[in-house]
Amino acid sequence: MTTARSAAAFKSALKPLDEALAELLGHAVPLAGTETVSTFDADGRVLAEDVVSTLQVPPADNSAMDGYAVRVADVPGAAVALRVSQRIPAGSLAGALEPCTAARIFTGAPIPAGADAVVMQEDCEPLADKEGFIRIRQPPRLAQWIRRAGEDVTRGTTVLSKGERLTPAALGLAASIGMSFLQVARRPRVALFSTGDELVMPGEVAPAQMRPGAIYNANRFFLRALLLRLGCEVSDFGIVPDRREATLDALLSASQAHDVILTSGGVSVGEEDHIKPAVQQLGSLGLWQIAIKPGKPFAYGKVGAAHFIGLPGNPVSSFVTFLVLVRPFLLRLQGGTQLAAKSIAAPAHFIWPRADQRREFLRVRRNAAGGLELFANQSSGVLTSAVWGDGMVDNPAGQTIAHGDTVLFIPFSELL
Ligand code: AMP
Ligand code: MG
Repeated sequence: MTTARSAAAFKSALKPLDEALAELLGHAVPLAGTETVSTFDADGRVLAEDVVSTLQVPPADNSAMDGYAVRVADVPGAAVALRVSQRIPAGSLAGALEPCTAARIFTGAPIPAGADAVVMQEDCEPLADKEGFIRIRQPPRLAQWIRRAGEDVTRGTTVLSKGERLTPAALGLAASIGMSFLQVARRPRVALFSTGDELVMPGEVAPAQMRPGAIYNANRFFLRALLLRLGCEVSDFGIVPDRREATLDALLSASQAHDVILTSGGVSVGEEDHIKPAVQQLGSLGLWQIAIKPGKPFAYGKVGAAHFIGLPGNPVSSFVTFLVLVRPFLLRLQGGTQLAAKSIAAPAHFIWPRADQRREFLRVRRNAAGGLELFANQSSGVLTSAVWGDGMVDNPAGQTIAHGDTVLFIPFSELL
């Protein structure tokens, strides 16, 4: 009974992830200001206006094959021979198709008026005894191998919407309707700090020279890379020493020219840390205990006009908390509309016999059978799990998993 009561108290002190996310997103007012960028450079950016087509794609009916354009009525049976009356390469203009003839045609070339099918060249053969004639082996179906004008985009269609994050395919689609520039949200300016006097930068101290107790700063590398992928401009403040004055200085200078200050480490409860009092002195800070594993400690506050976000120091906690909380926050700052990562149902090819009171994000990878395999060590310090894995199982609080159970899988590719 004592155990049950303390478990309940523990649970109620923690903030459910959905609640934390809703509260965090409530602070994420989209940044003012947009930017015009070349379509070449717009990958990953968030559109600031709808992209509407003023034309149709393809602009005209055209051939999907190299072959011969014909009128179906002229080829009533097998082995019909037709004279080749014109040649239409891609990019040329076609005259009308003469009755009872075929037009040599190439992929992407316009269908001549009067033709209603294309026969691929593999289904035709030149007549050995009649120069300029071909034989068509099988009668064609109406409209075969014809790509219709406007089958991709019709005039007036919104092909890409405001708030959409641009993908390589979206850049191609924008280009296909003639857009060489796109209006996108401005990049959030993010100041990144790592805290922790145990941290050492790779390159500054060789592995053999590491002092006892020192570890390399891993978080700085993945956080910077994640921020860049999310369209942010990153100012890397490096490792801020665990001293009050240094922390105050760094926060103050970062707050002046940045939209967001992101730190890792020093947000665990009971820790002798300088981030918390420093942020409180300069602005406001809420320390949250979020009911997720890995993760839990998380801080949100303001320093001047800048948002302050403090992530836990354990690398996997930092990584996962970034993906589930900071990622949607940064997308919302850019006016993004698709904030939640799409999860898919998949069978567990592992067992998870001990339920946790927190919602868990287990690092797993898909096997060839479509099942999910679990990385053996789910510790919040084991970054190998996030490299070995290709995604996470989003496991509700209090849930065990038996082999074959259907679970929710979030591929990392959805989050990056
Ligand atoms: P903290 O949240 O500061 O209590 O840190 C929790 C754990 O994460 C400690 O073991 C830290 O040494 C480790 N840690 C904190 N920051 C980093 C970092 N930037 N890179 C790698 N490990 C870190
Ligand atoms: Mg620390």
